[in-house]
Amino acid sequence: MSTLPQHALSTQDPDVYAAIQNEVDRQNDGLEMIASENFVSRAVLEAMGTPLTNKYAEGLPGKRYYGGCEHVDVVEDLARDRAKKLFGADWVNVQPHSGAQANAALYLKALEPGDKLLGLDLAHGGHLTHGSPVNFSGILYEAAFYGVEKDTGRIDMNKVRDKAHEVQPKMISIGASAYPRDFDYEAFRDIADEVDALLWMDMAHTAGLIAAEVMNDPMPYAHVVTTTTHKTLRGPRGGMMLVGNDIENPFGITARKSGRTKMLGEVLDSGVFPGTQGGPLMHVIAAKAVAFGEALQDDFTTYAQQIVDNAQALAEALIERDYNLVSGGTDNHLVLVDLRNKDLTGKQAEQALEAAGITTNKNMVPYDDKSPFVTSGIRLGTPALTTRGFGPDELRRVAALIDRVLADPSNEDVQQAVRSEVQALCDTFPLYDFATV
Ligand SMILES: *Cc1c(COP(=O)(O)O)cnc(C)c1O
Repeated sequence: MSTLPQHALSTQDPDVYAAIQNEVDRQNDGLEMIASENFVSRAVLEAMGTPLTNKYAEGLPGKRYYGGCEHVDVVEDLARDRAKKLFGADWVNVQPHSGAQANAALYLKALEPGDKLLGLDLAHGGHLTHGSPVNFSGILYEAAFYGVEKDTGRIDMNKVRDKAHEVQPKMISIGASAYPRDFDYEAFRDIADEVDALLWMDMAHTAGLIAAEVMNDPMPYAHVVTTTTHKTLRGPRGGMMLVGNDIENPFGITARKSGRTKMLGEVLDSGVFPGTQGGPLMHVIAAKAVAFGEALQDDFTTYAQQIVDNAQALAEALIERDYNLVSGGTDNHLVLVDLRNKDLTGKQAEQALEAAGITTNKNMVPYDDKSPFVTSGIRLGTPALTTRGFGPDELRRVAALIDRVLADPSNEDVQQAVRSEVQALCDTFPLYDFATV
């Protein structure tokens, strides 16, 4: 049991305080295996809970629409400089409130409504903001998709090329929420050049692994890169846009009204503000600066490598127990388990594991025959457990616990027994101990 340091909150608003406290306990006492989640450091948390939330700072450092921005300018410059260094970028905007907001800012500037884009199919691991019919990206623009191969679970670049020539998209997206393999950015860029398309990489899931150079680097190939800051990058909930090599007047993305020659980064700045957002969240930008500072430390590389080693240990231990993994394994922080040979749905598996204190999410697998509310798979990620200090030995233990639950998914005695083992593991690797504040 730990106690939050918000003394005012606990006395002034015990209802909200209690719910927050319960959530802290839930995070402490369970195995967090949702691949898009992570745990930020105390320093990142502290930066977020500051009076910087009070400040309006529309515009950019040195060019604000409000007075009194001299200190938040320092904060935003730190965030931008660190992000540039971390990813080797010419330009960066740290203001997007989330990954989806960063993508919206890009669409606004890169495409006109009705323009064509080509992205990874949502049902094959893609993201809603890459052209799904229920998202603005699929409603305002004409989306076409490439997928993964049925037998390999991997993207076949020849098929991407054929599709690109057929569709003639104005923008091609790379990036995924449930793809366990790396991307061939050079091949994507060749294809984009052949059809004269803008190449966009959405590294929301893998930004931390890319920063630490344990995965391929999109920066030299993609015209624009967007990301979240809260997944493997282990920062506060938020988004960011980056340009590796800034260029002039890219693909007709000019200053449509002023007619002045602008750089790609400058154009994208206006996609964030005033294009799609108002005032930036300066407390979150401060926390981004802190997280980027952490990611620039040598031990972040060790952390990122550990995330991948852990995912591979988990994959091997699951394969030994006759689980089918999409693509047969992983190059990154997640595994996608196809449960059809176990006669289980993703929904059943998610619920059984939840009862045992293991948080996962049901997930469509490629060529799934079930609905998104049921699914044939679960997605398992290692970033959060790695932050707690878990190594490959612990991940092998976790695989055994998962198998015990899924072998008998309606057995509550098994769930309770596993729940106690989960608690023991969590006690060995404590997360937040606010009682020490
Ligand atoms: C998570 C994710 C996003 C969206 O991020 P939010 O912060 O939830 O809006 C966008 N793209 C990809 C590929 C993602 O995985």
